Amino acid sequence: MRKKIVAGNWKMNTLPAEGAELAKGIVAQRATAPAEVNFIVCPPFTHLSQVAEALKGSNIALGAQNCAAEEKGAYTGEVSAAMIAALGCRYVILGHSERRQYYGETSETLNLKMARAYAHGLTPVYCVGENLEEREAGKHFDVVKAQIEEVVCNLTPEQFAGLVIAYEPVWAIGTGKTATADQAQEIHAFIRKVLADKFGAAAAETPILYGGSCKPSNAAELFAKEDVDGGLIGGAALKAEDFLGIGQGFAK
Ligand code: PEP
Repeated sequence: MRKKIVAGNWKMNTLPAEGAELAKGIVAQRATAPAEVNFIVCPPFTHLSQVAEALKGSNIALGAQNCAAEEKGAYTGEVSAAMIAALGCRYVILGHSERRQYYGETSETLNLKMARAYAHGLTPVYCVGENLEEREAGKHFDVVKAQIEEVVCNLTPEQFAGLVIAYEPVWAIGTGKTATADQAQEIHAFIRKVLADKFGAAAAETPILYGGSCKPSNAAELFAKEDVDGGLIGGAALKAEDFLGIGQGFAK
C-alpha cells in the first residue's frame, strides 16, 4: 500500500509569524481530512523553527524547499541539509521547476543535493515535469525520463526506497490550468515504469505526487487515478482549509 501524501510548497510567501499561524490552523483542522493522508508543509527557511514549534505533537511533517549541494563552508547565502535537518525537517523538495528555470539547477547539481539530503536523513521530494513547448512538441515523456534517469537512477536501492517523486507539468504550475486526471495518470504510470526498469518491484512503493494548480475541487478526480498518490501543492497550500480540503480528495 503506497503512502498517500499531500505536501504544501509555500514558496516565498508569508512572514514567519504568518507561517506559524498557518501551521497552527492546519494542525487545528487536521481532523477534517482522512487520517491515512500524510501531510507535509514546506515553509521558507526563515520560518522553519517557528513552524516546527507550531507542528509539535501533530502528525504533520516539516520539509524545506531546497538545500545546498555542499556540506558546509564558504557558500554565502546557502542553507545546508544538516541545518534544515537540525530544525526538524524530514523532507526536502529538490529539483522544483522554479529552481531549474530561475536558478539554473541541473541534474549535476541535483545529484549533489540528493546526496547531501540522504546523508542527513532527509527524504527528497524530487520534482520532474515538462514545459509547455515540450508538451506541445510531444517530448514530455523524453524530458521526464531524462530527469529521472540522470538523477534518480544514480541512487542506491536503499536511498530509492524512501524517495518521493512529484510530477509537475510546468504549464500547470500557478496557471490555474490543471493536467486532466487522464494526462496525470498516463505520465505517472510512465514514471513508475521508468523507475521499475531500474529498481524493479520497489517502484510499486514510490509515492508519485501530482503538482500544478491542484485544489480541493479537482483533487478527488486526480487522486482517484491508480498511479497518483497525492499532490505537491503551491497556491492552495497557503490556506489551511484548502490544503486540508485537498487531502479530503482521498475520501471521495
Ligand atoms: C508548485 O509549484 O509546486 C505548484 C504545484 O504550484 P501551484 O499549486 O500553485 O500550481
